[in-house]
Amino acid sequence: MTIKNNRKMILLMGRARTALLVIIAGCIGGLAQGQPGHSNPWAPTEIGALPPISSLTNGVWLKGELHVHSRHSKESSNNPIAKIIAFSKAVGMDYLCITDHDNHVNGDVANNTWADPEFKSDSVLLLYGAEWTTTRGHGNVFSARPYDHQRLYDVRDQRDVVVGAVKKELGIHLSANHPSGKDHFGYSYDMVESIEVWNSAVWPKNANAIMIWDDMLSSGRKLTGRGGSDAHHGTPDTPDKATKNSYQAKANYVGTPTTWVFATARTSQAVVDALTNGRVCISANPYAPRVEFYADLNQDGKMDMMMGDNARATGKPVKFRVQLTGNTVPEGTYTVSIVKNGNAFGTFKATGKAPTIEFTDTPATPGRTYYRVVVEGPPTAYPQVPESMALSGNMVGLSNPIYFNFDPNF
Ligand SMILES: [Zn+2]
Ligand SMILES: [Zn+2]
Repeated sequence: MTIKNNRKMILLMGRARTALLVIIAGCIGGLAQGQPGHSNPWAPTEIGALPPISSLTNGVWLKGELHVHSRHSKESSNNPIAKIIAFSKAVGMDYLCITDHDNHVNGDVANNTWADPEFKSDSVLLLYGAEWTTTRGHGNVFSARPYDHQRLYDVRDQRDVVVGAVKKELGIHLSANHPSGKDHFGYSYDMVESIEVWNSAVWPKNANAIMIWDDMLSSGRKLTGRGGSDAHHGTPDTPDKATKNSYQAKANYVGTPTTWVFATARTSQAVVDALTNGRVCISANPYAPRVEFYADLNQDGKMDMMMGDNARATGKPVKFRVQLTGNTVPEGTYTVSIVKNGNAFGTFKATGKAPTIEFTDTPATPGRTYYRVVVEGPPTAYPQVPESMALSGNMVGLSNPIYFNFDPNF
């Protein structure tokens, strides 16, 4: 705090002399000591109170696609923006981010993807973004409004401290793409709000991405897991049937997988905010059920946390609830696996119209704990992308973690 700010504050308080002396003394004391000393990371004031229960009900589940290439990416010439948007609308998507590579246009996505007259929709919320395509790997930008992508492109070969400062100035959500594959995100994970833990319909190839996510979570980073098809070609009428691209068109397109967000409103900004906060789950396709994950921290019988939320562990048992919502397969049995701090914690079977399981555990204090959910079971048909079912196999959905004692400012 500067002396100027102190003075302003004191004028507001109207207790000039005594308070000024106290604050100046505090400033001098701070200067004399230099850097602050050791502080207890579990100090009680660091983590906020529980979110209000109303925040669990006052919102809307929105589903969307966060990684798809249009004809403005060099290798997806048969995928016009109008086609992607019309398809998204037809399968019930609420939001969409078209993420073209930026290197083909030297960073100028504003005059390519976003300037395309087809970049408009009367029903699907369109986020502004691009795939930041660099020698150090790929990351997606998600923004509710146009931003100066050129600046991010121009610092792509700079050190992370430079890139991080630009990213912060732009006020964008940055997400690590396909973290274990070719062109994996090779910058610091301190710069990203989310990580692509489910890339494309081919679920099994994501095992290493999940491992990296668990590593990052275990290191204390509160990092949202999200999906993205990374589709490069149109479907179903792709013209290049002789190539493997015709296979991709039937197997991997908008919605394989689908990322759900629990947003405070049906707006682009609320979608980005939910992604940042982690009230997010991923389903194999837009028709598959979504995984909802809640916790009752204060044992009043009412759920007061959901995935993405972070609370102080009390040392008392917490009741957790997992429920599948949407088109569950009748008579289907779902396997619900709980991951605690990167390790298998328990496996439960769930059936019925709204399959639900509950379990209880006591998060450690002190120390960080996170729980997340993996659901496997009968696949849900996706007629518009018929071959995706076989590629996703029994993978139904993933939750984001519920966190305890994580540093909210990490
Ligand atoms: Zn990529
Ligand atoms: Zn891509």
